[in-house]
Amino acid sequence: MIEINNLYANHLKLKFGCFFTGLILVLMTPFQVSADTITYPNGAHVAVHLSYDDALSSQLDHAVPTLDQYNIKGSFYLLPGSATLNNEQQVEAWKKVAQNGHELGNHTVFHPCSSKGPNRGWVKPYASLEQRTPEWMAAEVKMANTFLFLLDGQKSRTLTPPCFETMTGSGDYLSAVRPLVAGVYGHTLPKPEEVFWSAHNVSGQQLINYIKRSAANPQTKIIGIKFHGVGGDYLSTSNKAHKKLVRYLAKHHDQYWVTTYKNIVDYIKQQ
Ligand SMILES: [Zn+2]
Repeated sequence: MIEINNLYANHLKLKFGCFFTGLILVLMTPFQVSADTITYPNGAHVAVHLSYDDALSSQLDHAVPTLDQYNIKGSFYLLPGSATLNNEQQVEAWKKVAQNGHELGNHTVFHPCSSKGPNRGWVKPYASLEQRTPEWMAAEVKMANTFLFLLDGQKSRTLTPPCFETMTGSGDYLSAVRPLVAGVYGHTLPKPEEVFWSAHNVSGQQLINYIKRSAANPQTKIIGIKFHGVGGDYLSTSNKAHKKLVRYLAKHHDQYWVTTYKNIVDYIKQQ
C-alpha cells in the first residue's frame, strides 16, 4: 500500500507539481482510504488479535493450551536473547506452537528500550535504546527474523517494538525496520481504526468489556490485547481471566475475526 501511495504520488507530481504532491502525501496515510470498506471473513466487522510478549514460560504453560483448546491463534513475540529460550525443551515447545498455527513474532533480539526515566533500572547498558541507531535496530530485527525462521520456517512475520519505543539516540527506527516485517504492532491503521491495550492484573470481564467497548465504535477495525505473563511471570494476567476472554471470543466468532496479527495485516493489505 505504501508503494501504491508512492506511485500515485509520483503520478501526481508529474501532473500537478511538487506542492500539490506534498499536500496529498500529508493527507493520505497508508490504508486510511480503504479502512471503511474492510469486511472480514465470517462477515465480522472487526478483527481481534491476542498477543504475548517476551517468550515467557507461563505463556507456554497456560496461554497456549487455552488458545489451542478454543482453536484461537495468537501472536507470540519471542526474544531470541532471553533466558527462557536457552534450553532445548523451550525451543522445541515454541516450534510446536508455530506448527499449531500461531505466529512467532519479532520482538528484536535484546529488547532495547529507553534507559531514561524512572523504573528503567532493569534496562541493561547493552540494551539501551539511546545507544542504538536505526541501522543497528534494522540489523537486530533481521537477526531475530533469521532465528525465528529456524524455528518456524516462515519468511514473514510482524514486529512489536520493545516497550513500544522506537526513538534511538540518532532518530526513530520505525522506517528502517518496516521493510523487514509484514507489519508493526499498532501501526497498521490510524487510531481509532486500530486500538490495543497492554493489559495486566485485570479480570476476564474487564478484558471482555474492552473488546465490547472498542467494537461499539463503528470506525474501529482492529482490536488488540497484549499480554506478558499468563498465570505467572511478570505483568501478569491470571489464567482464569485469560481463559474467560478466550472463551468469550470463541463463542462470538461471528462478531469478531480472531486471528494472528500477521493474518490481519496480510488480509488488510489484500483488501
Ligand atoms: Zn517486551
